[in-house]
Amino acid sequence: MRARRAIWPGMGRNTGLRTGAALVCAIGLLLHVVAARAQTPRAPDLTLTGTLTGAAHETYTEVPFKVPAGVERITVEFAYTGKAERSVIDLGLRDPERFRGWSGGNKSSFTLAESDATPSYLPGPLKAGTWRLVLGAPNIRKAARADYVAKIWFDRKGQAFAGFSAAPLARGERWWRGDLHMHTGHSDGSCLSRRGAKVPCPVFKTAEAAVARGLDFIAITDHNATSHFEAMRELAPYFDDLLLIPGREVTTFHGHANLFGPTAFVDFQLGGARAPSLATILDQAKTAGGILSINHPGLPSGEACMGCGWTVKDTDFSRIAAIEVVNGGLAEGPLSGVAFWEARLNAGHRITAVGGSDNHDATLPPDKAPAIGVPTTVVRAPELSQAAILAAIARGHVFLDLAGTRGRLLEVHAASGGSEAQMGDALAAPAGARVRVEVHVVGVAGGSMSLAGDTGAGSSDLKLAEPDTTKTFEFTADGRASWLRVDVRGADGRLLLLGNPIYLNPVP
Ligand SMILES: [Zn+2]
Ligand SMILES: [Zn+2]
Repeated sequence: MRARRAIWPGMGRNTGLRTGAALVCAIGLLLHVVAARAQTPRAPDLTLTGTLTGAAHETYTEVPFKVPAGVERITVEFAYTGKAERSVIDLGLRDPERFRGWSGGNKSSFTLAESDATPSYLPGPLKAGTWRLVLGAPNIRKAARADYVAKIWFDRKGQAFAGFSAAPLARGERWWRGDLHMHTGHSDGSCLSRRGAKVPCPVFKTAEAAVARGLDFIAITDHNATSHFEAMRELAPYFDDLLLIPGREVTTFHGHANLFGPTAFVDFQLGGARAPSLATILDQAKTAGGILSINHPGLPSGEACMGCGWTVKDTDFSRIAAIEVVNGGLAEGPLSGVAFWEARLNAGHRITAVGGSDNHDATLPPDKAPAIGVPTTVVRAPELSQAAILAAIARGHVFLDLAGTRGRLLEVHAASGGSEAQMGDALAAPAGARVRVEVHVVGVAGGSMSLAGDTGAGSSDLKLAEPDTTKTFEFTADGRASWLRVDVRGADGRLLLLGNPIYLNPVP
């Protein structure tokens, strides 16, 4: 939500509807840090090779190369020979107009885009024309030579941003826990300074809090901003156990939606010439390789909370990947987004339920909503990478842990006629076919599960007696397009885990 506008009576911070928001000489030293290139290898668009000899000792060599029009990101990998003879080549960059950075001998690769750049380099527009790699030679012996290779990649519009990390942070199919909605000082997120003043909260506080809560990934979603990506670029190598996903809350007068994935600019001025309809925003998001999640659709709109509910006319829900059904502490009640979401499921759409804390102060303690990680969106993916997490969200391999615990699990599988499906998947079940459902719940001893959907499935065995319980039940399919999902409540009746649907016979 747009925090500064959340001003209706009785809605304070505690409801989740908060009121605000060496000289290390380069000579002889080449640290192979941070391969900036993403993990999907692609042949470089340009390879520059050359040789520096003793004649280049203590001189600079500028190597020109052409950057074509329409490039959104430039990534350079640099290597050279002769290190055994103490040959050293330092590295820098100039664009057609100005100096863009100097990493000397401290980085063998770097990337830069309009929004973000590897530290040492400046983000900004990537003007077409003649750029120059600047090679400094602090030492090359008289008879020595150093052969260099600079591989250069140009990412153009429509090539999805693979992430701030060069490789998956971890591999292996498992559940990964994250928070998909949080604000920093790049929009209306604030916290107390070291002297106790309320200040725009720096991005690292959010990352630190997320790690402390045991999260595996976060999306930082400042309102309509892209300036936080530069901070995330700097943090990513240090937070190598926390996947940082670029996000933004596309904040319009008619609703809010998180865009996950791209760093490129996407219009948000819905209703004006720049984005006459949501389709324009969805088109741009798709081109940029992002997925869109409608935020807090259960909130009111109007003076109580301007633009908070979803009132966008002509929304094509077939293009919406996810809906934030739980915002902060709003799991149940009239402000929850569950009813809005289930109405779209009933209309035949396949849309993933996600959650987000909508945190606006990274220093909030875990028991004070909206603390980071409450709720947690738990995603089943084969590795901890931006591509894998976002793909799994789009597929619906997701459940919500509303209290943000580190260990609760909800696993649902259905099988019929030799086919199997997990949450988010489709299962073919013709009329009369038996469908077997298996539900595995961890961490909710004494609680119970409930079934939702229009399959007609039911079970009389819903109690969860043990901390690790598996329940099975069967029903006969009627052959219609329908959906089935599972929620889990604690002994006190509070909703603790919210499952995504398995879709029976979905209309393609
Ligand atoms: Zn919002
Ligand atoms: Zn928000």
